[in-house]
Amino acid sequence: MFDLSGKVVLITGASGGIGSAIARKMKKIGARLILSGTRENVLDKLSTEIGGDTKTIVTDLSSKEDIMNLATEAENCFGHIDILINNAGITADTLFIRMKDDDWDNVININLTASMRLTRQVIKGMLKRKYGRIIFISSIVGYTGNPGQTNYSASKSALIGLTKSIALEVAARGITCNLIAPGFISTPMTDKLTDEQKSKIIVNIPVNRLGDVEDISNGCIYLASDESSFITGTTLHINGGMSMI
Ligand code: NAP
Repeated sequence: MFDLSGKVVLITGASGGIGSAIARKMKKIGARLILSGTRENVLDKLSTEIGGDTKTIVTDLSSKEDIMNLATEAENCFGHIDILINNAGITADTLFIRMKDDDWDNVININLTASMRLTRQVIKGMLKRKYGRIIFISSIVGYTGNPGQTNYSASKSALIGLTKSIALEVAARGITCNLIAPGFISTPMTDKLTDEQKSKIIVNIPVNRLGDVEDISNGCIYLASDESSFITGTTLHINGGMSMI
């Protein structure tokens, strides 16, 4: 149904569970891809598997310089960027009372500040060409909060204000800016949970399962497509009914 033929997509966190699923799905519907992450071997393997017009750029999003290089190199890959997926994210869970400054700073820096910095660079080309799709990957816990995840929840909540404000600034220029808020999805990030923790979560998911990475990539292609041109500044919640916000 959706067609991204020829569209150039930059995906951060492409070496991870959700990012690689977005890459595979977008390639199937014609996109040209730039895959970013820190693990070169994983990116290379994915790029070989996907094939075609796929480039990889190794980036540490904790480095301002790396982010500037990523934006420049990505523009140079195919001449421009149509779609930016700010997907990279980390956790450093601990109870609030025990949270160290480093746990706070690292999570805010990767999940929020790096996404802002990259978007601020990439949006310049979108403004010139009067076309763009920007998608941030937030989280259900950015809306509900979660014990042990004050830093992560705060970073994901902050993306909501960032998205809405960017959306308002660029809406008249053919650029949309939206969020996807996944619920609990089976990926290396949630593999860290124990079976007991997973069972407790599933009890609260009306569809009675954790989400699959494809559930997220399906939502992502909609927000990246031309069909979603009247949708901006909003959140697509993909959580199996866990939280009907
Ligand atoms: P994942 O498999 O752990 O992937 C995380 C990705 O972020 C990896 O590709 C990783 O790259 C990249 N990344 C981490 N630190 C980085 C850094 N300093 N520089 C550059 N890249 C960095 O996690 P996931 O589950 O796919 O999560 C993807 C997004 O969805 C995240 O924003 C996460 O918060 C969000 N989310 C996930 C869930 C879930 O249930 N899984 C739920 C809600 C929201 P390398 O591995 O190459 O370092």
